[in-house]
Amino acid sequence: MKQLFIFLLVLAIYFPAGLIAQEESIYIKAGKLYDSKNNKLLKNKIIHIKGSKIIEIGEFESLPKNIQAIDLTGYTVLPGLIDAHTHVLFSQEANEDFAEHSIHSLTMESDALRILRGSKRAKSYLYQGITSIKDLGNSGLYLDVALRDAINEGTVEGPRIFASGPILAAKGGQIYGVLPEHQNIINLEYRIITGPEDAKNAVREHVNQNVDIIKICADNLPNKTYLTIDEIKAIVKTAHAYQLKVTAHCVTNQSAWNAIEAGVDGIEHGFNLADSTLTKMAENQIYLVPTENSKEYMNTYVKLAGYKENEIGWIDKYLNKMRNRLNKAIDKGVPIVAGSDNYTDIKVSRGESSFDMFQYYFDAGMKPLDILQSSTYISAKHLNKENEIGYIIPQANADIIAVKGDLINDFIPTIENVVFIMKNGKVYKNKSD
Ligand SMILES: [Zn+2]
Repeated sequence: MKQLFIFLLVLAIYFPAGLIAQEESIYIKAGKLYDSKNNKLLKNKIIHIKGSKIIEIGEFESLPKNIQAIDLTGYTVLPGLIDAHTHVLFSQEANEDFAEHSIHSLTMESDALRILRGSKRAKSYLYQGITSIKDLGNSGLYLDVALRDAINEGTVEGPRIFASGPILAAKGGQIYGVLPEHQNIINLEYRIITGPEDAKNAVREHVNQNVDIIKICADNLPNKTYLTIDEIKAIVKTAHAYQLKVTAHCVTNQSAWNAIEAGVDGIEHGFNLADSTLTKMAENQIYLVPTENSKEYMNTYVKLAGYKENEIGWIDKYLNKMRNRLNKAIDKGVPIVAGSDNYTDIKVSRGESSFDMFQYYFDAGMKPLDILQSSTYISAKHLNKENEIGYIIPQANADIIAVKGDLINDFIPTIENVVFIMKNGKVYKNKSD
C-alpha cells in the first residue's frame, strides 16, 4: 500500500492531472474532409488528435483497434472557420451615428463593462464554428489583447483572437466632428499618428503590448484626414521588422493606392478600388477583405435603421457595384480573405451575424469551396499561420468543425448547419449522433 502511495505521488509530481488529460488521444472519423490548401474534398479520413494538436491524418484502416472514434462519417469535416474582420468590443444600433456612439461609449461605458460585453460576443463566434477571429480595433486601449489572453488562459470561452490593438490613424481617427478641446478622448480608441517617426513609435508601442497584427486607417472618411505614404511606409517597415502584418482600412481608391505603394499586406473593405489598383494588388499578392453584406441583411439593417420603403433603392445599386468589384478582383487573381465587419446589432448573436459573409460571397458568385478557402487557408496564410490554423495537417492546432449536408450543391444551409466544434482539441459542440 505504501509503495502504491509513493508511486502515485511520483506520478502526480511528474504528470500533473492537467498534463495527462491534455495528452489524451482523440480520433475523428471524417466521411468527407476539406483539404483547404488544395481546395478539395477528400473521402474517409481519420484525424488523430493529441492534446491541442493534430498528430496525423490517415485512411479509415489506420484507426487503432478497440479505439472509439468520434464518428463524423456522415458529415463534412473542415478546419475551424476564420472571420478576418471583427470588432467584438464594439456594437451599435442600426439607427445610431458611429461618431456619436463612439464618444458615448468611450465616456460612459467602463472598460470592465465593455470587455464583459465583448466576451459574450466573442463566445458566440466559437459556438457558431468560427474558431479564429482577427479583431481589428475599436476596442479601447488593448482590451482586445486582454480578451485574447483571458481566452487563451481558459478564463473565458471564445475563439482564438488575433488582436490589433488601437487602429493607427491620422488626426481625429474615424470619430468625426469632435471639438479640438475634446480630441484627447479619441486617444482612448485610436493611436493618432503625427508623422513618420511617431508612426514607428506607435508600432513599437503595439509590439510592446503584444498585438498580433497592425491595423491602420489609410483614410478616415467621412473625417477628411488620412495617413501619408511616408507615414504608412514607416509603419510597414517597422511592423515587418517585428514580423507583423499590416492591414489597411480603405474606403477611397486613393488611400488604397497609397497603402499599396507603402507596402501594406492587405486592404480591408476597398469599396472603391479602381481596376488599376486591383491589378497592382494581384501583382503584389496583396489580399482583399470584402466586408459587404447580403441583400437579406441589408433589408434587415435598413428596417432597424428606420429607412422608409422609398429610401432603399440604393441597396441594389450598391450590391451590384460591390459584386462587380469582387468578381474583378477574383478574375485578376487578388487573394480574397473572408471578413464580416458586422458590428451592428441586428438582433441575433454576433457570431450568427458574421455568417452573413458566406451568403454575400455566395450571392456575388463565388464558388462554395473558394469561399471556404477564403475563410480558412488563405486567411491563415496571410497571417503566416497556415501551419497552425485554417488547415487540417499534422502539428496544426486541433480547430475542427463538421457540417451536415452537401457543401457543393447546397452551400448556405450546409455551412450554417454546424454539428461539431472543436478548438484546441477541446470539444465545444457535438450533435453528430
Ligand atoms: Zn471594421
